[in-house]
Amino acid sequence: PADGDSADTLLRRAAVAAAVAKRRAQPVFRYDSECDPFTQERLAVVTDLWGAAERGELRLEFLPAVDLPARNTVSAEALVRWRRPGKGLLFPCDFIPIAERSGSIREITRWVIQEAVAACATWQSDGIPLGVAVNLSTAGIHEPGIVEIIEQALQVHGLPPTSLTVELTESGVMRDPKVATQVLGSLHALGVRSAIDDFGTGYSCLAHLRNLPVHALKIDRSFLQGGLADPQDRNIVQSTVNLAHQLGLSVVAEGVESEATLELVSSLGCHRAQGHHIARPLHRRSLGPWLSTSGFPALA
Ligand code: C2E
Ligand code: MG
Ligand code: MG
Repeated sequence: PADGDSADTLLRRAAVAAAVAKRRAQPVFRYDSECDPFTQERLAVVTDLWGAAERGELRLEFLPAVDLPARNTVSAEALVRWRRPGKGLLFPCDFIPIAERSGSIREITRWVIQEAVAACATWQSDGIPLGVAVNLSTAGIHEPGIVEIIEQALQVHGLPPTSLTVELTESGVMRDPKVATQVLGSLHALGVRSAIDDFGTGYSCLAHLRNLPVHALKIDRSFLQGGLADPQDRNIVQSTVNLAHQLGLSVVAEGVESEATLELVSSLGCHRAQGHHIARPLHRRSLGPWLSTSGFPALA
């Protein structure tokens, strides 16, 4: 009875469990609502998400990134939020996976690119020399015309392509390295920079990594959560830095939460850092005031 009180529900949930078992190559899987794309709540999110960008319910916050060891702020990463009517502010983990499956990710991706490029163009015309980064999901790189969408946004707002970085997660890249290589190659040809996000949490094939036209690896914040007190975490950061150096890539440490961790990642050879010790995600207009008071100024 815990899994349903009607034949319909039980059959539908058995089908969901069977699909998960097949996907995971597991002989047995017990129904779990976490893995069910058709729960009432998820279906309601799917419905509410359609048109969210058009209705002005999305907004971006920007997470500064500093270069090391100088500690100048060099760019800011756009992070999307959704003010869902009657439900408050939602973070990407609550709606991006659902948007990916339902298709509304296309609208979100376009909106994020436009807004992030526009924000960066405004900073630059106000004399704030920062770049901007956007996150693309797996569905994002499969969207037909994604390269043209990015190119057009840069043209419309007059932003130099080198000011934009596109971030793809390691698992997203490795799920379809061929498409990722194509898209990143085209973006590279435009002059757009790219980074592999959440590095260390997926399974990178080093042969693919070598051939990918990327500029940076972003070490996942799970490795920095304990402030690198665990020697294993430190080893992972050090190995990633070594690997990146061999491949001619730069390394960004994500999730730096203390001064000690910032000093440590700098001494381990990371080129950049982000995290709550530097700043929490900021509104686009708060970035200027933050730069002048934070101790992490933009380059003069
Ligand atoms: P991400 O790209 O790795 O972004 C970093 C996440 O870690 C952000 O969470 C950020 O607020 C959080 N964070 C940064 N520094 C710290 C720290 O020092 N401590 C802690 N505890 N957290 C920190 P957020 O905004 O919830 O985003 C989560 C993920 O959602 C992002 O991970 C990214 O993969 C995805 N995402 C965000 N915006 C977009 C978007 O516009 N499109 C797509 N497709 N995905 C997005
Ligand atoms: Mg990111
Ligand atoms: Mg990340």
